[in-house]
Parts: sequence; structure tokens; C-alpha cells
Amino acid sequence: MEIPSTPRYRFATQMALETFTYFNVLSFPLDIKTLIKSEGIKLKKYSTIAKKVGISVAEVCREYQTDLAYIFRADSGKYSIAYNDTKAEYLIRFSLAHELGHYALGHLEDFSETVLRYRGNNLTETKYEVLEKEANCFARNLISPAPIADIIPQNMYQEYFGIGYQAELTRIGLLKTDAHYSVLVASDSNKKVLKKIRAQLSKTHKCSTCEAAFYKKNATFCPFCGEQTLTKLSVSESINLKNRGNYMRYSKIELNDEGFPLHCPRCKNEDIDSSQKFCQVCATYLKNICIGHGPFEENPFEPYPSFGLYKEEEGCGKKLPGFARYCPDCGGKSTYYFQGLLKNWDIEQKEWEELPF
Ligand SMILES: [Zn+2]
Ligand SMILES: [Zn+2]
Ligand SMILES: [Zn+2]
Ligand SMILES: [Zn+2]
Repeated sequence: MEIPSTPRYRFATQMALETFTYFNVLSFPLDIKTLIKSEGIKLKKYSTIAKKVGISVAEVCREYQTDLAYIFRADSGKYSIAYNDTKAEYLIRFSLAHELGHYALGHLEDFSETVLRYRGNNLTETKYEVLEKEANCFARNLISPAPIADIIPQNMYQEYFGIGYQAELTRIGLLKTDAHYSVLVASDSNKKVLKKIRAQLSKTHKCSTCEAAFYKKNATFCPFCGEQTLTKLSVSESINLKNRGNYMRYSKIELNDEGFPLHCPRCKNEDIDSSQKFCQVCATYLKNICIGHGPFEENPFEPYPSFGLYKEEEGCGKKLPGFARYCPDCGGKSTYYFQGLLKNWDIEQKEWEELPF
């Protein structure tokens, strides 16, 4: 195949979004090393290569003709990326994403005799310039996707995406163009993941009573402590909160996409399916829903801590996340909290304070 005469930006943007969605990236900065390894590509550090061969890292840079990163394919067809691990983390992130771009866009397979060396801003042979531009387009749309960058204040790009000054300028300069291509190429599953991240950023609430944070479009009651002491945060406040870890992480029960637990939250019985309301071993009500404010005395499953089915009718019945002790809409108790499967927030906070570190 001939190297295209102009960069295929649409294709590169599409592949970046596909990669992003396939690896279910939900937070930034992107963990590019893990992503590359899970693609079956080997990562080699310049410092390790230098040690093995008995030369300096500077000599490795000269040998590979790049001081950033270099992708190559062995005769076996296996890919490896060598990268300069002595560079700053943000530069490593971008150069690795760039090299992954050459792989994802099929550059080494489609075009014979391609020598792809990322030289940053330095001059590249003109015929490879097109491929370099495609790889850069892939990289910036993978580590700082336009549909996410769109809602973030531009002065937070470096911190949020883990990119450098140069990449920040490019991201700002090409935001409109990339957003335009993203809309054209995004599949339904791309849109779903992007929407989820945008929701996490723009719908974060923080509670001043129990210091918990969570995201939901609208909420009146704190799902952790039941108080009406919530503040909806701006995107930048929510990024700051996340980066500083400035909130309490209370325990939760892991649920699948349908809001059903992976096993019985009390006895760990795995033989459950979403058609069952109660665990057949320990009588635990399996879903987390709102059952209102009580009273809750009668329990047909004594001595097991559960309740009669009529309680389903007493709350607003909404499905709740695995951490909810209270319903964020009506303040009613959750079935998990009522059955003693989730601890009181203040007891849990005390336990945290007593930990020996
Ligand atoms: Zn390159
Ligand atoms: Zn609270
Ligand atoms: Zn059970
Ligand atoms: Zn409710």
C-alpha cells in the first residue's frame, strides 16, 4: 500500500475512540503502559537496554535515532515498544500513545519499509510526515479525547490528562476539529463510555456531614448518611476533589451492570440469579432498593435479618447503587443498610481513624 498523501484524521480519531472504549478507560490520566501490555505489546525501557548492552541511555537514543520511543515488529510478528524511561512521565505517556497509534493504525503492516521514529518536534522525512501526523492525532484523542476535554476548564488539561505544555496547546488548538471528527465517528458504545465520564465530572455531589462524594444528576439526601447536606460541585471542584482524594470512601457491595450482586452479600452463595428476590440460603433480599422510613419490625424470616415482601411497596422502590445506605431521592432506608450489610457511616469513619497509619 502507498502511504496516503494526506493524514486520515477521521480514521485516527475513530481508532483512538475504539481503543479507549475497548479498554473501558474511565479515568485520567490514562494508564497507557497497562493498556499497551494488555494489547500484547512488549515494553522495553531504554535504561534496561542500556544496562544489558553496556552502553549509556544517550547511546541508546542515538542507536534508535529517537530520544523518546520506538515501535518495532519482530520476525515472529510480535510488537515491542522501546521507550526512554528517563523522560518525564507526561512525555512518556504521549510518546507511548503515539507509538501505539502506529500499531493501531496498521502503519507497520500496511506500508513496507516504514521506519517510524518519533522525534517530537524535530524534522521527520517528508514521506513519513503523514504517518506521524496520524499517530499524533491518535495519541491526543486517546489520552485527551475532545468530548471529555470539551467540558473541562482548559487550565486544568495538564493536571487532569497528565499531559505537558506542548500537548496542552495542541489539545486546545485542535479541540474543535477533533470534536467534529469524534461526533462523526463515535459508535454507540463510544458514546456510552464518554457519557459516563462526563457524568462523573459534571454531576458530583459532596456531603458536608459524612464527607462522602458520589455522582448523580439530582440528589436531595446523602446516600451515605441520609442528611440533606449536599453540594453539587463544578467540574473543576470535582477534579480537585478526585485528585486530592479529599473525600471519604465508605464500603460498598459490588454490583453488575444490572444492579445485581455478584454473589449473596451476606453468605457469599454464588448460586443466585436476578429472577430471585431472596437468597435461598440465608434469606437476604438480594437487590439494593429503597424501602422507605419504616417501621420495619415484622420479619417472616427470623432469625435471619430480612423482611417481608410488602416492604418493597413502602419506599419509592428505586434501584440504588451498592454503596447506598439511604435513597438519595426520598431519604428512605436501603435494603442493604436495613439488613445490616452496609455499616453506619460514623462507625466506619471511626474504624478508619483507629487504623494504625
Ligand atoms: Zn511516529
Ligand atoms: Zn453524607
Ligand atoms: Zn445468602
Ligand atoms: Zn426512595
